Amino acid sequence: MTAQLDGLVAIVTGGASGIGAAIARALADEGAQVAVLDRDPSGAEERFAAFAADVSSRAEVDAAVAAVAERFGRIDIVVNNAGIGAQGDIAANDDDEWARVLSINVTGIARVTSAALPWLRQSPAAAVCNTSSIAATAGLPQRALYSASKGAVLSMTRAMAADHLREGIRVNAVNPGTADTPWIGRLLDSAPDPAAERAALEARQPHGRLVSPEEVAGAVLYLVSPQSGSTTGTYIEVDGGMAALRLRPA
Ligand code: NAD
Repeated sequence: MTAQLDGLVAIVTGGASGIGAAIARALADEGAQVAVLDRDPSGAEERFAAFAADVSSRAEVDAAVAAVAERFGRIDIVVNNAGIGAQGDIAANDDDEWARVLSINVTGIARVTSAALPWLRQSPAAAVCNTSSIAATAGLPQRALYSASKGAVLSMTRAMAADHLREGIRVNAVNPGTADTPWIGRLLDSAPDPAAERAALEARQPHGRLVSPEEVAGAVLYLVSPQSGSTTGTYIEVDGGMAALRLRPA
């Protein structure tokens, strides 16, 4: 049986860890040649073509995307997944921190997608998927900057979909709820009792557990595969029902 993404080349940013690593595996399992673009790609080289680049640097992104195109001769899929967190209310972060987070979580998507655009325009199966978050819609306490960045990801996704519809490039997003990744592991490890904190976090999820990175990857795989050929400018919530129930991961 032919795999869904046979012959296609995919870039996955932040593909060395967590959700991005699961996405890279899912796309490769369906036949894609995967290029991981990460500021710290260590570990990804074992299975994927790995390119070191910080998405907050236009020069590094341009060089890495050019290197992917040079190596594979095409780019069909871009998964803009690299992102960082930020804590606190609207007054908690100074201008430098606002600029840093927005440069990675929002402008990073513009940098990577623009660099890949000439290649996506030539692809018969072009698709972009952006990783947003439940923070985009939930009104999370103490996450003003992070929520602003992820809300921008959703509105940018719709605008990108509209701009590139006639060029045959689809653009969608995923909104993960709290997912079991090294990022969340680091947060739990900083608590006085990480095991108790994890149990409390799981109990706050509507389905009683954290979202798995593979579950997010499954939604991304659908959104970048030909199966979703009539779907663009929208997002899938992978959050155990949290948004549907109007709950917030406090
Ligand atoms: P993670 O920290 O486990 O992995 C993030 C990866 O992105 C790492 O490999 C890191 O090196 C890379 N990265 C970070 N900044 C980068 C930069 N400037 N340039 C290039 N690469 C960079 O995180 P994760 O939990 O897998 O999160 C991945 C995405 O999912 C992020 O966009 C995050 O906002 C989003 N998300 C995560 C959760 C969650 O609960 N884990 C929930 C909702 C959304």
